[in-house]
Amino acid sequence: MTLKFGVIGTGAIGSDHIRRITNTLSGGKIVAVTDFNKEAAKRVVEDFNLDAVIYPDDKALIADDNVDAVLVTSWGPAHEPSVLAAIEAGKYVFCEKPLATTAEGCMRIVQAEMKHGKRLVQVGFMRRYDNGYVQLKEAIDNHYIGDPLMIRCAHRNPTVAENYSTDMAVSDTLVHEIDVLHWLINDDYKSVQAIFPKKTKYALNHLQDPQIYILETVSGIIINVEVFVNCRYGYDIRCEVIGEEGIVSLPEVSSIISRKNAKLSTNILMDWKQRFIDAYNKELQDFIDSIQKNGEPKGPTSWDGYIAAVTADACLKAQQTGEKEIIQLAEKPHFYENVALK
Ligand code: NAP
Repeated sequence: MTLKFGVIGTGAIGSDHIRRITNTLSGGKIVAVTDFNKEAAKRVVEDFNLDAVIYPDDKALIADDNVDAVLVTSWGPAHEPSVLAAIEAGKYVFCEKPLATTAEGCMRIVQAEMKHGKRLVQVGFMRRYDNGYVQLKEAIDNHYIGDPLMIRCAHRNPTVAENYSTDMAVSDTLVHEIDVLHWLINDDYKSVQAIFPKKTKYALNHLQDPQIYILETVSGIIINVEVFVNCRYGYDIRCEVIGEEGIVSLPEVSSIISRKNAKLSTNILMDWKQRFIDAYNKELQDFIDSIQKNGEPKGPTSWDGYIAAVTADACLKAQQTGEKEIIQLAEKPHFYENVALK
């Protein structure tokens, strides 16, 4: 059976997912699209030669009986109403982050999904599908380094758009570490503190850059994440897990090594899309395959979306106060135990 997608939001990531479902992945097909920007919707239909209906809004698209799964790639504040409407209609949902812009909104989605009685929603936290993180998780789960004690990470971009603000360092950037790290060590966050080092001269006036977050987990693991979005030299994601019996780190991105003019060198990526291109392919292929095989997605859950929202809120508060802020999650419902990607 082909999984028939309706896409809400045909901007940067929406059109990229349409391209991969149409040209690269198997088992999925785009049958409907909608976007506030009608030209953008028309453009993807033409560019990818889609046999798809263009709907005036998300409600009409979700109501189409031909749509099995809804891809939510609109801007953040529009996610919650579209996801809730799709659950109400019993449709599968792949929702880009954030699941909702507030923890309460994520909880409404969690409750709607539980009421429906089976998993429908997967959140687009693609790092869990990245080969490097998958290898780190295997090493940790197999006790290769004993118990993890500390984690050191960096999320560096060469530069960012002028409208990138200090809070976006959490909601757009750190949020990927927030999701992947608790999954990696199978632990929950307990507190967070934000520290602002000396500001780079390359950051605009309104932006604090770099920033450092110190997260503590329930078992006592200390995680240090540097967010540095005007680092100039490249797009660089680093993660080192220090355990009782050894250390594991993300591999370098594969690139040739050259010896020339008395220098030994290798390339560093500049574009984030390149870094995770395989992970984007794998997360959506897994969504399609799991639904076709088991009738449910098995990737990051609505509960993971909730954890990310609660943690991001605490990080934003920590930016303001400079104090250690408590991260208080509701009790995890049994519905979400042992369902996420291992
Ligand atoms: P974008 O280029 O601005 O595209 C969003 C599109 O959705 C725009 O064309 C926008 O129209 C439209 N839109 C907004 N609300 C809508 C609604 N209710 N119904 C229909 N269309 C609507 O943004 P983007 O960069 O693709 O990002 C989209 C989402 O994906 C964001 O939540 C972002 O955080 C997430 N994202 C995730 C990753 C990742 O690594 N997982 C990467 C990039 C983006 P207008 O422009 O007219 O408002």
